[in-house]
Amino acid sequence: MLGFDSHCHLHFHDFDKDLTEVVARSATAGISHILIPSTDVKTSERSADIAEKYSLYSAAAFHPDHLPDDSTADEDWSSLKSVLLRPRTIAIGETGLDFYHNTFKPEKQIFWFRRHIQLAESLGYPLIVHSRDAESEVLDHLPEKPPVPVILHCWSGDQRLTDIAVSRGYYIGVDGPVTYKKNGDLRSVVSSVPRKQLLVETDSPFLPPEPFRGRRNEPANTRLVVMKIRELQGGSESIESTSFTLWENTMRAYRLHPENRRADVVYRYGDSLYVNVTSKCQNSCVFCIRNTEDGIADYNLRYIQDPPDELVLSTIREFPIEKFKELVFCGFGEPTLRSQLIMKASAAARARGVRTRLNTNGLCTSFMSDDRVLELLGSFDSVSISLNASGAREYNRICPSEVENSWEHLMRFIRLAGRSHIETQLSAVKNSGADIPRVTALAKRLQMPLKVR
Ligand code: SF4
Repeated sequence: MLGFDSHCHLHFHDFDKDLTEVVARSATAGISHILIPSTDVKTSERSADIAEKYSLYSAAAFHPDHLPDDSTADEDWSSLKSVLLRPRTIAIGETGLDFYHNTFKPEKQIFWFRRHIQLAESLGYPLIVHSRDAESEVLDHLPEKPPVPVILHCWSGDQRLTDIAVSRGYYIGVDGPVTYKKNGDLRSVVSSVPRKQLLVETDSPFLPPEPFRGRRNEPANTRLVVMKIRELQGGSESIESTSFTLWENTMRAYRLHPENRRADVVYRYGDSLYVNVTSKCQNSCVFCIRNTEDGIADYNLRYIQDPPDELVLSTIREFPIEKFKELVFCGFGEPTLRSQLIMKASAAARARGVRTRLNTNGLCTSFMSDDRVLELLGSFDSVSISLNASGAREYNRICPSEVENSWEHLMRFIRLAGRSHIETQLSAVKNSGADIPRVTALAKRLQMPLKVR
């Protein structure tokens, strides 16, 4: 069975003693996916650790009851964004407004809520919203036409507010309280929500469904909420079918579904940050990772459609790139196919004192003039060029290309790199069928260092 607990706080200490058993029990109960939302920097890091350890997903944010101190706000915000660079941290949440606890003044809560909304829009991350005694105010601040999925976690708005939320396309999170006897109004609201906009969640360790009230909640109990949703939505299909529908909805809500899957614009590798601008390439190298994988180390790098310029630029703008040794334009395709964009992005990074490197197949001489290529090279601090062969015949065998005379174009690019005096490194791949001693000899003749990977 496929099942998704879309909101489950496994980071809380309630699970310290038996986390592995809790995760195993949820799998046995048919919960194949779990997302762990967070409340501050510390819990966001812990959620990311758990997600990576157990192949789950996590979200990072400041909960309205756990906002940072004004004196450390900038530093904390930067640390929180760093967590969003983790490979299984795929959403921003939970943020929102809580006028029930009122731990912080409404103005401060609204400031941080709006900040999270703006960040989600800049990065293209789904947004998980908490509202307690603030359902109307939350809707006031959320965009009417959200550019990213909005998930109203543990929603308890009345019918009028629910109708507004539904008309804007928000997802409605349903959990244990829908099973409580006194909550007839909530059940009526849930029965009115279009099936495609419903998500199931446990909010563990809180809000256990009947008959487990008073005990610690856990994701294995998702099924009890699914059963209630099934009943409220007509009850004609099997539990498995309802669970599958809710799973699919959640995959869409968190942009994990093949139809709207979000690819990572940036990803961490070693002490560098890599920028992924395209999934297109003129070559079909025999060793290319794209032949077998969709990404690297849990990052999804394959775009359904290449990202708009603004998404790449705003991603670089938002993230604390200064924390990395360098920014590498590499990705899951050939970055020079978007030369204007990478020049702009590199300039933005260098203006912040960050070194930039271009990793390229060197074939842009097939569609750019020498002057433009020199301008491109001048936009980076260093360049790494995939040499991969010792001559045209070998290159055509290992790196078949749609570019005519690709080897000649590559040689031309290498000569231009030499002329531009940019720090240059050539690369080749071991076990690719290339004659490495001859490739090494060629690199020597070209008077450039070679890295054999
Ligand atoms: S040039 Fe790079 S991205 Fe293109 S096919 Fe070869 S290895 Fe893959």
